[in-house]
Amino acid sequence: MRNKILAANWKMNLTASEAHDWLVKFNETDSDKCKIEFRLYAPNVFLSDLVKSRSLHIGAQNVHPSDFGAFTGEVSIPQLVSVGAQSVLIGHSERRTDFHETDAFLKEKVNACCNHALPFIFCCGESLEIREKGKHLSFVRAQITTAILHLSHTDLSLLTIAYEPIWAIGTGQTATNDQINEVHAFIREVLRESFGVDGANVSILYGGSVNPSNAQSIFACPDVDGGLIGGASLNASDFLELASSF
Ligand code: PEP
Repeated sequence: MRNKILAANWKMNLTASEAHDWLVKFNETDSDKCKIEFRLYAPNVFLSDLVKSRSLHIGAQNVHPSDFGAFTGEVSIPQLVSVGAQSVLIGHSERRTDFHETDAFLKEKVNACCNHALPFIFCCGESLEIREKGKHLSFVRAQITTAILHLSHTDLSLLTIAYEPIWAIGTGQTATNDQINEVHAFIREVLRESFGVDGANVSILYGGSVNPSNAQSIFACPDVDGGLIGGASLNASDFLELASSF
């Protein structure tokens, strides 16, 4: 049974008072909050306050693989867990591109999450250049092979995948349903080959310019189990409206 997840990624947006207002609106808005799991990946400075509200699953957008040490500006899993974070994003394309995070480094983060039994969303996806060369499937397979396929079946229960083609993130250019489902079905097959039915049951989210007007057709794709939402998550009503698209 695959979990349906709708995850907001605020990135480096919103101030403390705006974050507070978002939460008030999220809590007031009438929506079927049982149908799917809502998650919020917020900037670290807001995590402890957001966790206190207990209204939705709160996670971090990034983590360092070491438990402690001389890594100025970074945050560790024990620190995130100590303020109540429930999961973390690993390998968002902005981390890969802007901060040069390699698949090998992301594997260290994955292993650290497994050592601490912290759930994580592993993000993958190709650039436009790779897609235009027709190499998107082998590229995504390589990302998953390096960082994920060594996991044990127990660790696998911590994993959610987010497929986010880089050319669709924050650009307003959404992948077509055929493009999305092709990659989601492919990832599911890669996981099934290595982990059998447990692999096939991993939830795979789509991310890339999802908004209230395109969400319904994207979430109707058979291998899409939810979304990782950037821009459209900054407004609590828009984010909640996406839930009615399932
Ligand atoms: C993201 O940040 O993961 C994302 C998918 O952003 P957007 O929805 O703005 O494309």
